[in-house]
Amino acid sequence: MRSKIVAGNWKMNKSLEEAKALTSEIMAMVADEVKGDTKIVLCTPFPYLLSTKNQLGTNSRIEVGAQNCSEHDSGAYTGETSASMIKSIGIPYVIIGHSERRQYFGEDGKLLAKKVDKVLASELTPIFCCGEPLEIREAGTHEALVKKQVEESLFHLTAKAVQKVVIAYEPVWAIGTGKTATSQQAQDMHAVIRTYLAERYGKEVAENISILYGGSVKPDNAREIFSCPDVDGGLVGGASLKSRDFVDIIKGA
Ligand code: PEP
Repeated sequence: MRSKIVAGNWKMNKSLEEAKALTSEIMAMVADEVKGDTKIVLCTPFPYLLSTKNQLGTNSRIEVGAQNCSEHDSGAYTGETSASMIKSIGIPYVIIGHSERRQYFGEDGKLLAKKVDKVLASELTPIFCCGEPLEIREAGTHEALVKKQVEESLFHLTAKAVQKVVIAYEPVWAIGTGKTATSQQAQDMHAVIRTYLAERYGKEVAENISILYGGSVKPDNAREIFSCPDVDGGLVGGASLKSRDFVDIIKGA
């Protein structure tokens, strides 16, 4: 059975004090208001991973994620952070292949396949992002592109391994733009991804993989998008920086 997950991607925002304040607001609201078993993940900047984890405490239902990792194990890679380092501080999730990494840091499908492998080798959960830019959507080739992204970075995995991956479909034209996909557009693409996974791994495996939607998710559109049969929650950017909005989004899952 796949999980419902709402993950906040804080990107490169907040000072340590601000991160602590945001975490404590989210903790209090989640404790008071959030029922059900939706998994909640805060993907903070690297310097705050451990303090956020410690602040949440051992029994928290909120978990922490990193926003990237290296494709290497260790060594002379100045400025990089390995999956095993993230593992060593007890952080269970890592976002891989966010469109900003693809766009600004030139990360391609082959590199992302290596990163996925490193994350899984450290027994962490990759949140693997895919999604098409606006010109591809307008050209009508979005399904082909997203299938290619999934194939390039995930289809080398065994059936056992691929079920440990969380996929986030994030149309690039909807990220940080305030322009969200309609629930029909989200459902259609999620169904395409799940069908493609089923063709490669079988229906049972595909049914076990959580596919999140990301792209301008807000409290007023979350419930409708998350109610689509193939949408298993969301990856939330801007709205995850406001405790009230983020918790209302979680309540929509
Ligand atoms: C994201 O960065 O993953 C994202 C979905 O951003 P936003 O919610 O701001 O569109």
